[in-house]
Amino acid sequence: MRTLIAIFLFFFMLPAFAQQHKTKNVIIVSMDGYRWKELFGGADPGLLFNKKYTSQDSLWLVGKYWETDARTRREKLMPFVWQQIAKNGQLYGNRDLGNNVNVKNKYWFSYPGRSETFCGYYDSLINSNEYPDNPNENVLEFIDKQKEYHGKVVTFASWDAVARIINRDRNGMLVNIYEEDVKGPGLTTLQQEMNTLQHTMPEVFGQGERLDAITFAMAKAYMMADHPHVMYIDFGDTDDFAHEGKYDMYLDAAHKIDAMLGELWKYMQQDPFYKDNTTVLICPDHGRGYGDQWTSHGSKIVHANETYLMVMGPDSPPLGEVSTNGQIYQDQYAQTLAHLLGFHFTANHPVGEPVKGVQ
Ligand SMILES: [Zn+2]
Repeated sequence: MRTLIAIFLFFFMLPAFAQQHKTKNVIIVSMDGYRWKELFGGADPGLLFNKKYTSQDSLWLVGKYWETDARTRREKLMPFVWQQIAKNGQLYGNRDLGNNVNVKNKYWFSYPGRSETFCGYYDSLINSNEYPDNPNENVLEFIDKQKEYHGKVVTFASWDAVARIINRDRNGMLVNIYEEDVKGPGLTTLQQEMNTLQHTMPEVFGQGERLDAITFAMAKAYMMADHPHVMYIDFGDTDDFAHEGKYDMYLDAAHKIDAMLGELWKYMQQDPFYKDNTTVLICPDHGRGYGDQWTSHGSKIVHANETYLMVMGPDSPPLGEVSTNGQIYQDQYAQTLAHLLGFHFTANHPVGEPVKGVQ
């Protein structure tokens, strides 16, 4: 009888256990200050047709991103998101459907936002983008300390402050930022070319911030060569163009990040190391205002705490665009990431609960 029960339990528990541990790799992508408005609604007519915010030929813009139906419009702006993630993954944060995602911190800008994401914790002392090395431990270094993951957790960022946010001086992880070459004896030809290329690109945003295209190319070249288990890619073009009030460029930057996500996903499905065992998480670090306040964020800008979360991977049921009432906070992502890999993240501070429904 006992044997029978054991056999019964084995076969019935097997799918549950197997399901829990499919994710071996996680890619987490940050889109700096990209609004939920455009993600779920596509180009905003109040801004797209406002001459103040668009400098290029409006016919070109209308053709590229305008469509009267909001559902078609959002797919035009982010085809990978709506053709792939919406069908095979999860999208949280469409406030028009009552599904809310917010940052927990009270500052609503970059360093505090990323710190909350990776530490799983809102620290009120972290209140400046010039804040020195982050004293709070993050989930990336926690994973890096786990057997089989050591040296396999890496970051590629457009913005140089990410080195302080992740505190690479404390944990020694690879955090590649603005102007830095990837080093090492075994660099592939592609990696060497990308190192060179970044120094020949225009300084569109001034010191400290490189274009996302090169951050992406360097990250992908690294992925192909070294197969990290966890990769954090931090994009910044969307926030920079928004601060400059260039809505056309902001939309285009988002469209291109969508294309990069598609490229990355396509590559991973061809590489047996990543195929069917990789989960992708995509989020911004903060939101921005509505109407004329779209260019800005920070605690004085209403709605700049409104964000979203996208997930796609083998452990996450394909819920698509989540339309039920709900509330997620950004301090939940770190533990969500750890749990996807089968770990429980503990640190020198409290950590937010994982997002229910991701696995
Ligand atoms: Zn930002």
